[in-house]
Amino acid sequence: MADIALLGVPYDGSSSHLRGAARAPAMIRRELARVAEFSNLFTESGLDLEGPGALRDAGDLPVEDPEQTRGAIERGVSDILLAGERPLLLGGDHSITYPALRGVHGVLGQVDVLHLDAHPDLYPEFQGDRFSHACPFARALEAGLVSRLVQVGIRAATPPQLQVAERHGVEMLPMRDWGKPAGYFFDRPLYISLDLDVLDPAFAPGVAHPEPGGLSVREVIALLQRVHGKVVAADLVEYNPDADRDGQTATVCVKLLKELAGLLAAE
Ligand code: MN
Ligand code: MN
Repeated sequence: MADIALLGVPYDGSSSHLRGAARAPAMIRRELARVAEFSNLFTESGLDLEGPGALRDAGDLPVEDPEQTRGAIERGVSDILLAGERPLLLGGDHSITYPALRGVHGVLGQVDVLHLDAHPDLYPEFQGDRFSHACPFARALEAGLVSRLVQVGIRAATPPQLQVAERHGVEMLPMRDWGKPAGYFFDRPLYISLDLDVLDPAFAPGVAHPEPGGLSVREVIALLQRVHGKVVAADLVEYNPDADRDGQTATVCVKLLKELAGLLAAE
């Protein structure tokens, strides 16, 4: 079993709308401790994340200005990989994925990416910011960090983003084509980026950009359980505690964190 390092990135400085995602790592950790207390940290496949070495908390990265934060993320991710562990990042807004992929690329070279989101996050720039949470996958593709990008759950694509998708051969599986979950097969090391707003707001209201018509918690878990490939790193982003008045979305975060950890732990 591979060792996993939980790495918090309390950063929401590249959000285009609501701030608040910076408080997510602390809230998710608190909920993780609560779930461990009243329930357990077994994944659905039967792996106990409370077992020795299964899940190490690497703490939070220092967050100051955007550029410093991106550097800290890149170094933090590559340090974890070089130590023989697999990083599971807790955002933070989705802008953290670009520097995370830079860190992965520095150690492992190009990876495949499975991206779950309501939004493609492929804008060439957004509100004048090239590093906005609406842009991470445009940057990653331009920089040649990604061999293959598969996007699932998309239901808010716009023409500028569709042009970027076309140019880079992005495999976009929009919600309007959703049917029986297929198998997801990847040949290269795989990075999974899970934006919480891929879920329907009925299941996860605690996000900055709720987009109705999304997936259920069960459908996302079923999708993750159909992933075939070696998962080397993952992130869980865009949880916004300010929009989660009763803590329901935090509980969903911990459930998805457990299932992502289960994938990361598999050899
Ligand atoms: Mn996103
Ligand atoms: Mn999104």
